Amino acid sequence: MLYYLSTDTWGCLSSPLRKKVEIMENVFKRSSEETHNVFKWENLGDVKEGRGDLGEDMPVLVYRLMQFTMLDILTKQYGSDKANDLFRDAGFLAGKEFAQAVLDLNVNLDNFVANLQQALEDYRIGILRMEAFDSETGNLTLTVGQDLDCSGLPITNETVCNYDEGFIAGILNAYTGKNYEVREVDCWANGDRVCRFDGIVI
Ligand SMILES: [Zn+2]
Repeated sequence: MLYYLSTDTWGCLSSPLRKKVEIMENVFKRSSEETHNVFKWENLGDVKEGRGDLGEDMPVLVYRLMQFTMLDILTKQYGSDKANDLFRDAGFLAGKEFAQAVLDLNVNLDNFVANLQQALEDYRIGILRMEAFDSETGNLTLTVGQDLDCSGLPITNETVCNYDEGFIAGILNAYTGKNYEVREVDCWANGDRVCRFDGIVI
């Protein structure tokens, strides 16, 4: 049971009792690292257990509803460039955590790409194809078909997959230890059927 103390009540407490309440607060208070505002993979919870009959899946529409309303609010608050940067940063965090939690990072490149293709399909994120890879520089070009974020969007002549740019950069960073700048050069929203990303080691 939770008890809430008003400031009036607090003022009436004797000092030993105040001390006791303060100690109790400290026991129950979670540190800043334990809040849901700081991402941890395990905080995604046990979806299967928690969702019961509704199960682990949901329509893509719901994912996009959250993503594009979030983008709308961030854009109004910070402008579109900053909002896109924030999306990219969030995508990077997601990609890095996803790679660490789901992928084997200690395999050769061919196996890593094959595993990544399979994981992106299993999680229904998209269909990955590696188009080009420069083994000297580490630079690459890849495509994602049926992309979760943008396939089927109205054509607005823009590349909208900023979250994916970060997501891919995060995955590449987790595997290679290198920092990548990933930019989308073709997108469904730009009139293409697949999203195409260039990744450059920086
Ligand atoms: Zn796209």
